[in-house]
Parts: sequence; C-alpha cells; structure tokens
Amino acid sequence: MILVTGGAGYIGSHVVLRLLEESDHKIVVFDNLENGHLSAIETLKSVRDFDFVKGDLKNQNDLKNLFQNFDINSVIHFAAYICVEESVQNPRKYYANNLIGTVNLLNEMLDHDVRKIVFSSTAAVYGEPKYIPIDENHPKQPVNPYGKTKFMIEEILDDYDKAYGLKSIRLRYFNVIGADSENRIGESHRPETHLVPNILASAKDSEKVFNLFGDDYDTKDGTCIRDYVNIEDLASAHVSALQYLTEKNQSDCFNIGTKNGSTVKEVFEVCEKITSKKINLKINPRRNGDPKILVADNAKAEKILDWRPSKTLGDSIRTAYNWLKK
Ligand code: UDP
Repeated sequence: MILVTGGAGYIGSHVVLRLLEESDHKIVVFDNLENGHLSAIETLKSVRDFDFVKGDLKNQNDLKNLFQNFDINSVIHFAAYICVEESVQNPRKYYANNLIGTVNLLNEMLDHDVRKIVFSSTAAVYGEPKYIPIDENHPKQPVNPYGKTKFMIEEILDDYDKAYGLKSIRLRYFNVIGADSENRIGESHRPETHLVPNILASAKDSEKVFNLFGDDYDTKDGTCIRDYVNIEDLASAHVSALQYLTEKNQSDCFNIGTKNGSTVKEVFEVCEKITSKKINLKINPRRNGDPKILVADNAKAEKILDWRPSKTLGDSIRTAYNWLKK
C-alpha cells in the first residue's frame, strides 16, 4: 500500500488521481485538511475507492496509528507549507511542519520497516542561479526558509540512506501549473500567490486587476523567466519515480521541468489568447526574492526515469481556466 501525505492538496491530488487510474496500488491519503480540500478526496473516491485519514505530521500519535492500521510499503510525501514569503516572516511554522513533521514521518517509516519514499522537493533548493539551465549538480544555496527546509530534508534523506538504507527519490519541481484535463480536480490556494491562477482570475472577473511584479529585469521583455511544467506531466514523473525506486532500490534526485523558459508577459499573452479576454494589467515594483530566471535542465529525468514533458504552456493554461470556471 502507498501512503500519500498531502494527497488532498494541489499536486498530491493529481498524483493520487494518476495512481488510481493507472495502477492497482492500494492507497491511503493522510492530510490535515488545513490547505487540502475534502472535496478533492470525494471526487477522487468516485474514480476508485481508497482510504483517507485526517491527521497531522506534527502529531507522532497520528503517524503511529496510521502505520499500525495500514500495511504501508512506500510513501509519497507532499504535505508541506509552500509559501515562500510566509516562510520568511514566520520560519517557525515552516521548520515545525515541513522539517520536524518530515523527520517524524521518516522515523515512523523506520519503526515500521518502510524504506521507500518519493519526496516533493523544489527548484528553490538551488537559490539564486549561477548558470542556466540548472542541472542537479548546481550549488544548493536556498535563500528562504521554505527552500531551506526542503534542502535540509534532502540532506537528512542522504543520511538516512547511509545509516538505515532508506531509499528516496527527490523530485525538484520548477513552476507547476494546470489542472486535470477532464476537469475533475485543479488548483485552489487561499491566498493565491501564483502567476497563472492570478492572471486567469483577472480574466474571469473583469473588475480584477492582474498585478505584474517587475518589468525592469535584464530579460528580453523585462519580466522574470520561469519554467512552467504541467501538473499531469508532473504526476507521471511521480509514477516513474516510484517505479524506479521499486525496481532499482536506489536513491537519486531529478529536476522536473521542461527546459523552456517563458517570461511573465509571454504567459500573460497566452492567457489572453486562450480566454479571449483583454485582461487588466498593472505593473508593480519587483517582488522580494524573485530571481530573474529559473529554467531546468531536465536531461537526467529523461535519461534515467524515461520521463519527458508532453504538454504545452497553452495546454496547461486551458485546463487551469476550465477548472477556474467550474
Ligand atoms: N508573478 C506576478 N504576479 C503574480 C504572481 C506572480 O507577476 O500575481 C510573477 C512573479 O514575480 C514571478 C513569476 O510570476 O516572476 C512566477 O511567480 P510564481 O509565484 O507563480 O512562482 P515562483 O517562481 O515564485 O515559485
């Protein structure tokens, strides 16, 4: 049985959907529903039934009961706070949940002889890029507590492998966008800070202005460049990672991105085209801590996991807009 922590959240729910549809694995989702959505669990259960446990990684008893009650043999771990800016203002919240919560999970895994985990990491482990595209060997100097917790966990996973043989695949996501192409689940964060949902919210509501942060970067049109990877492609990467872990029993890390960068203005233009709307745009000063460019070198995932992105930026924006309208 596979344990999916944070399976009611944006990325977790899309991975659960893929596992329900394309495998016969038994699944238990563990989520405290603080940011996850019970409605996503209900929708997923209509695809194929699975177990859901409401619980918190900060509570060792919740974890103990979980591992006692279910026959878990591998873990996909998403549950985490994800807001960079909040992590700077309130690092305690991030260290308590993302870091200590994960150590609690790993220790419970060891106590129950579970030694396989796919870990949801991030391009934020690299910090300010020294070269582009960023490969997995790029220096790791995260610049905010969010990125630091993810990097520290990667280091802990190394130690747990050496000492206890706990094998992990860490997937370092770049900018994840889009929704299920059948429009059953999608992205909804409160507050929403991400680019695509914010542009689309302004497309849906003509009163709403889209705030663009910074058009004076040293890029072709002055706005930041990011590597936008589709959520369904990302879900496939998790299935490949789990398969690799099962077959090879070897730890590794992979960038999950497309190797293509798009500027904020380019994304904005694709959104206007797909929605056929003229969107209100306001140029604001730069947002704190935004590097001008982040693009993944994804050759390693392609070579070793046989994973490659299949969707375009337009595909992702179309599904995200369908979801928003629903
Ligand atoms: N961005 C923006 N307006 C928004 C949200 C984001 O201009 O409402 C810009 C942001 O400054 C960055 C890019 O869009 O350059 C991607 O930001 P996002 O928060 O989606 O992802 P990040 O790269 O910060 O993880």
